[in-house]
Amino acid sequence: MIISRSIEEIREVVANWRLEGCDIGLVPTMGYFHDGHLELMRTSVHRADKTVVSLFVNPTQFGPGEDLDVYPRDFDGDCAKARQVGVDAMFCPGPQEIYQSGYKTEVSVASLAAGLCGVDRPGHFTGVATVVTKLFNIVLPDYAFFGDKDFQQLRIIQQLTQDLNFAISIVGVPIVREDDGLAMSSRNAYLSESERQEVLVLYKALQLIRQRVFESKGTIDTDDLIKTAAALFDKNNSCSLEYLSIVDEQSLQGLSKVWGRCRALGAIRVNQRIRLIDNMALYR
Ligand code: AMP
Repeated sequence: MIISRSIEEIREVVANWRLEGCDIGLVPTMGYFHDGHLELMRTSVHRADKTVVSLFVNPTQFGPGEDLDVYPRDFDGDCAKARQVGVDAMFCPGPQEIYQSGYKTEVSVASLAAGLCGVDRPGHFTGVATVVTKLFNIVLPDYAFFGDKDFQQLRIIQQLTQDLNFAISIVGVPIVREDDGLAMSSRNAYLSESERQEVLVLYKALQLIRQRVFESKGTIDTDDLIKTAAALFDKNNSCSLEYLSIVDEQSLQGLSKVWGRCRALGAIRVNQRIRLIDNMALYR
């Protein structure tokens, strides 16, 4: 597996693969790999001739007071895991390689970024959209793989790909969960043993919503559903609900009735410190 830290080098690696007639898959990550990341990589290895994984803890998607400085890192472990699933190259630039001094351009998909996680993390999705646009331009992949876990991010990337005419197929990969249902996340490493148990409340709230939707015969008011699910949090002291919403998958706008391809999304804060997200589709 090639490990490349410079834009020039990864461009040359990819250009040579192209001359050989290979197509290219890109998996953007911030590292500290778990099985969710590895599932994205496996999907790419299966779909594309060559897979590039980018590992970049992108400073512009962290707000003031967020966990940029303590974000978990394990470079050697990550390289070993990527190699094992058949990744061909890791692109691991430093911040100066990606953001040269004096850079001024940002990519914003404002209407999709305003709600949900965008309320508590202003600027976050502009950081994400900007870095993903840069990675697309650097690697020039045919496919790029993103997890459904970050559903708002996936929608924003689908939209920017269409709006900016990137010739890239965006592939969404289902959420990989622990045995008890918790969505895998690098940030789960911050949880104490008792917090690890308590955070399951978000998964349970989403499951309750989905169960009610699947059991119901008529149309259902989303307000009632959200109220019922949000009540699960009353008994839970370390996790507070940041939001719980039922939205149309395309527009990410809130719905008054469960209808069509819609999805429940939520975020919690654990002891004020740790922010976790999850979501579930409300259709079969
Ligand atoms: P991150 O390193 O957290 O920025 O995540 C990199 C990619 O992995 C993103 O596309 C995430 O949506 C995806 N991802 C993270 N956790 C999971 C998971 N549990 N299941 C599926 N994909 C995931």
